[in-house]
Amino acid sequence: MTALKLLFIFPLIIIKINANFVITRYDDECVLDPALVTEIASYENVTKHIMDQIRDYYGKTMYQEYTRFIDKFGARPSGTWILEKSIDHMIDLTKQHGLYDVTTEELEVPYWLRLMESAIMLQPRVKKIAILGFGSSVSTPSGGIHAEVIVVRSFAELEKLDRTKVQGKIVVFNEPYVSYGETVIYRTQGASKAARKGAVATLVRSITPFSIYAPHTGAQYYESNVTKIPTAAITLEDADLLQRLQEEGEKIVLEIQMAYMEDTKKSRNTLVDLKGKESPEKLVIVSGHIDSWDVGEGAMDDGGGMMISWLVPVVLNSLNLKPRRTVRAILWTAEEPGLIGAQAYLKQHKDELDKINFIMESDEGTFQPLGLDVAGSNKTRCIVQEVLKQFAPINKMENSGAPGSDIVLFIKQNVPGASLLNRNERYYWFHHSEGDTMNVQNMTNVIECAAFWAAFSYVIADLSVDLPRN
Ligand SMILES: [Zn+2]
Repeated sequence: MTALKLLFIFPLIIIKINANFVITRYDDECVLDPALVTEIASYENVTKHIMDQIRDYYGKTMYQEYTRFIDKFGARPSGTWILEKSIDHMIDLTKQHGLYDVTTEELEVPYWLRLMESAIMLQPRVKKIAILGFGSSVSTPSGGIHAEVIVVRSFAELEKLDRTKVQGKIVVFNEPYVSYGETVIYRTQGASKAARKGAVATLVRSITPFSIYAPHTGAQYYESNVTKIPTAAITLEDADLLQRLQEEGEKIVLEIQMAYMEDTKKSRNTLVDLKGKESPEKLVIVSGHIDSWDVGEGAMDDGGGMMISWLVPVVLNSLNLKPRRTVRAILWTAEEPGLIGAQAYLKQHKDELDKINFIMESDEGTFQPLGLDVAGSNKTRCIVQEVLKQFAPINKMENSGAPGSDIVLFIKQNVPGASLLNRNERYYWFHHSEGDTMNVQNMTNVIECAAFWAAFSYVIADLSVDLPRN
């Protein structure tokens, strides 16, 4: 998830963290109490030890397990049997690696099965159009939809059109890609907006800056009181072609057929705990989602993030490093249909939110690690920044305001947290498409992400101070 980047301009203030530590902040920089700085610096040997052990040994084992997991299960859509088998596999794997504190929490999740999809342009010439329905799309009527096309570049352009120009047509959104966070509204809201104008279906330019003729799926949501019309992604190539044909004055006619099945099934969030030695009730959560879309293999989204998070309590346990607080890895289920697993966890644990000292998620790639996108009070950010110093060059700190995907729900409840920053410029090239396979991943980078993720979360879980909230 990408969100609004916020710029903080700090006045000079003095903040008391607790009886021991005082932070003074000057504009954009933090000056911590020397005792806390000394304490943080004292972790340098242990963080180096954790990272070296992962680089030299545990990381390679993890990458083998990761590859085996993706090869064995492939795509793991919400509500499917294969997702549940993959969850069982991770539970077994945890125990095989010597950690037995693994539990699951059951919840209801959506099941949406893609049965068949096809699209063909009949006018002005015959051409097959690659489509990929969006999660929760309804089917076309039996016999399909045979209709004229109208292409628009934006919601504003659609709004300006007279209803008679849209009625009974297939609306093609050929929106320019700005960023995932800004452009994804065409996928999530396009069908509802077009249906209000009387459209019979929508096809949306895939939310990616790059294409070799692959459509990209993702979740979409029908607004209430709107006719549910079928909605699917098309490739950048076809979106541009349809736009040009329209501008050339051609009448465009498509025939589309889409069929899906919908149900509700049971799934599970998986919790892997390394209990804290002093304050086991306090948590540092590291997480990723185990489900994926039904296309590709969910290797990048979010097999990598799930795996490096799973490794944290497992490797710390193997290294006999028990921090003060509990380190909990959560393998979220059903993130893709709309953060369903995280919502259930939040509901079930809403009275324990003050016990979450810090919550982390990796769901935007495990390419070369760069640092963290941190949400939290200024005091928390100062401490995180100090900890990050020992990870240079992995010490970049951003503040998008909404790090991660699942954890955004917790951030909104004032729980401090962070997502992994990495060189993910190409993330959306593969995201939610057939291209999301192990070939996108690079072993050295994934291991480096894992090393940083484990060592950083160890320090936060072991520090003598809690991360302060606003
Ligand atoms: Zn994801």
